[in-house]
Amino acid sequence: MVHLVGAGPGDPGLATVRAIELIERADAIVHDRLIPRELLGRARPDAELIDVGKRPDDPGVGQERINGLLVELAGKGLEVVRLKGGDPFVFGRGGEEAEALAQAGIPFEVVPGVTAGVAAPAYAGIPVTHRDRASAVAFVTGHEDPSKPGSSLDWEALAAFPGTLVFYMGVRRLGDLAAGLIDHGRPADEAAAVIERGTLPGQRVVSAPLAEIAQRVSEHDIRPPALTVVGPVAASRDRLAWLEHAPLFGHRVVITRARAQASELAARLAELGAEVVEAPAIRIEPRLGEPEVGRAVASLAAGEFDVVCLTSPNGVDLLMQALTDAGHDARALAGATLAAIGPGTARALARHGLRADVVPERSIAESLADELVQSGVEGRRVLIARAAEARDVLPDALTEAGAVVDLVTLYETVRETLGEQERAAVADADYVTFTSSSTVRNFVDALGGRDGLPTAARVVSIGPVTSTTARDLGIGVDVEAAQHDIDGLVSALLDDASSRG
Ligand code: SAH
Repeated sequence: MVHLVGAGPGDPGLATVRAIELIERADAIVHDRLIPRELLGRARPDAELIDVGKRPDDPGVGQERINGLLVELAGKGLEVVRLKGGDPFVFGRGGEEAEALAQAGIPFEVVPGVTAGVAAPAYAGIPVTHRDRASAVAFVTGHEDPSKPGSSLDWEALAAFPGTLVFYMGVRRLGDLAAGLIDHGRPADEAAAVIERGTLPGQRVVSAPLAEIAQRVSEHDIRPPALTVVGPVAASRDRLAWLEHAPLFGHRVVITRARAQASELAARLAELGAEVVEAPAIRIEPRLGEPEVGRAVASLAAGEFDVVCLTSPNGVDLLMQALTDAGHDARALAGATLAAIGPGTARALARHGLRADVVPERSIAESLADELVQSGVEGRRVLIARAAEARDVLPDALTEAGAVVDLVTLYETVRETLGEQERAAVADADYVTFTSSSTVRNFVDALGGRDGLPTAARVVSIGPVTSTTARDLGIGVDVEAAQHDIDGLVSALLDDASSRG
């Protein structure tokens, strides 16, 4: 079976429920170039991903070959998703692929997608139809086969079309297009707009009267993918532009925390309009197989600890995982006082149905130690579940106060390498965010020293410990969150962006 699936115009949130369902299930995904990474990331780890997209310098895999590939994969009994930008049947050659499948007797399904011709204008504040201003809309290809003599477009009919014209492709030939329309009677002062990378971070829009649009577009160096809207509705943008008003629109923000932990921060920033670059500096390597973890879990289950300290959300999830793996559950923690280093860790406990008894005002080891010591720890057995590279502040302070402290290392953070694309994206960043000391150290390492940090970027730290690590490495911290969690970090960044206009 082959599913011809529309991936939507770029914003991964505009993929349909059915598209995501099929991506998650597919054995093989044959995809175009501009498919959001977030969507391909949902494929099964063992799914075969085949990029058949065109590039500016490379015509890509020919259509015949793609048709053949689909037939071949389906012939092997695989569940195949043919994932195409926008809608598969709108300038996507999906019709030809369906014909090839029909001819080969291979069953197929078509999953429509949100087409760029509607979505990009919508994100630019342009309704393609309007009760008073456009009672029809035409989707037109601006791309013509250069080998064809003359024009394949019916200029007369297009110029006379009673409604909005949306041209896909051909932004490089916009001058000819505008001139053709005007020559055939479209008003030279009719509103027009060109939308580059519509619905994607970094969307750009240029508007001008039809006679001037090509000049404006070349001044702004607009590049594909872009489409052109011609008609009175294009002027609505003056009143209806909305994306540009998001508080972080136009700001590129780098997230350095581990990919597995980045999604909450990424989603929050994207919702505020930021262009988010995930450049993970670290990766979490669980160590649940180590004998010390087995011993700690057995003691926990035997009720031997009076206090259990958790110093990160990762630690919480991994401790619960270790309990589950050993055939236990949350009841193993029933008798113990649960201490969390901060609200993020407390929330992680809450997700497992557990309430933290102690959460210090400031989310640092010193404060957690103070609070526990004040509550009296003499003679009490304390388990501290933590990362390999954690500081010894907490165990030292508790031991000094007379507690019997056991440590268990649940994970280690190791450095991730940055790809070329990630490096390039980081170089143009407006903000770099650090959510822990290990992200600072490893990010700087990955960039080959502090001089590798983008010079124009403002550095945002989640709290004093992270800031100190940064300063020790010679990195100035521009913004420090007052509340040391993701909410605090986002609000500090927002304040900074708005105070700087
Ligand atoms: N099947 C796709 C269109 C494929 S043709 C769909 O339904 O959207 C490729 C053209 O679509 C590009 O040249 C450009 O004109 C337009 N396009 C695709 N994605 C776009 C985007 N995010 N912003 C602006 N135009 C886009």
